[in-house]
Amino acid sequence: MATGWVWSERYMWHDAGTAGGPLPVSRWVEPMTHIEGPDAKRRFANLVAASGLLERLTVLAPRPATVAELTRVHRRSYVDEIARQAAAGGGNLGGGTPFGEFSYEIALLAAGGTITAVEAVVGGTVENAYALVRPPGHHATPEHGRGFCLFNNIAVAARHAQATLGVGRIAIVDWDVHHGNGTQDTFWDDPSVLAVSIHQDGVYPPRSGPVTDTGAHGTIVNVPLPAGSGDGAYRAAFADVVEPALDRFAPDLILVACGFDANGFDPLARQMLSSESFRWMTGRVKAAAERHCEGRLVLTHEGGYSPFAVPFCGLAVVEELSGVRTEVEDPFLPIVENYGGRLLPHQAEAIARAQRNDTSWASSS
Ligand SMILES: [Zn+2]
Repeated sequence: MATGWVWSERYMWHDAGTAGGPLPVSRWVEPMTHIEGPDAKRRFANLVAASGLLERLTVLAPRPATVAELTRVHRRSYVDEIARQAAAGGGNLGGGTPFGEFSYEIALLAAGGTITAVEAVVGGTVENAYALVRPPGHHATPEHGRGFCLFNNIAVAARHAQATLGVGRIAIVDWDVHHGNGTQDTFWDDPSVLAVSIHQDGVYPPRSGPVTDTGAHGTIVNVPLPAGSGDGAYRAAFADVVEPALDRFAPDLILVACGFDANGFDPLARQMLSSESFRWMTGRVKAAAERHCEGRLVLTHEGGYSPFAVPFCGLAVVEELSGVRTEVEDPFLPIVENYGGRLLPHQAEAIARAQRNDTSWASSS
């Protein structure tokens, strides 16, 4: 069975307007194109097509999420407010999250695209799937968007799978370099969803995602890594925290909040992963899905702001998902490999702290 591929040119038309990098324009911050622009994502999709990989995937056309589907996660008043502001010509959630007149309907298509991928995987038409959606979602809480996120795509898709597809236990692995605070908030009280976030310590939202945030039932697991962490730290974090948590929880479906902003070229964080690191992590979650849930695995796109590095990281992920290796070699790989990236003692200490605070075993069945 093939790998599903969700993509729409419409995603690229979400208008995040102008900003000063990740911050709003202010008196001394000159306006420029918002850093959460279409370039990195469109170039990822283009490389998947140009490499020939697209022809080996099953293309899945996204549909918009309904308001009823969104309100399994979000407050109705919040959804209505986004719709109202968009209809008035566009709005701004504050904190550098402006959106355009058509961004509401495109955000519905992003949440719906993640649902489309989940339906195809659970329904058995594809083995696993990648949803290249935009805007991203993991910072959006039930009542508020921030961090370039309007609706929490992965949380909406998880709730949909439980409500309508007969899926019980869902594990969410978030390897975007920023904390998956919106996903954590959504599932804080819910022992049926394991939410694991591996992120750069305290970078965004500021101070969010400490190891001591474990949720009401121990099913929230945070792995904050120091700035400068590379392949070695991520491999250790997977071996010591992420994979043991997945194995204890034994999910019926694994979802990944797949950001590429932990790559060594990203302007919004300071981690050092390469395309090979992302290929490796994908292989590990794929193996976990094979151990626990007949391979049912969906990745949905979050951040990643290097327009030249994201396409190669993304291609590696989709190659690993599909088991198809193209002739493409990542020309940036030797540069990142020169950064180093071995596990250092202070990183090992941070991982040990996360391991000690991981109480997800308490909810394992
Ligand atoms: Zn991010």
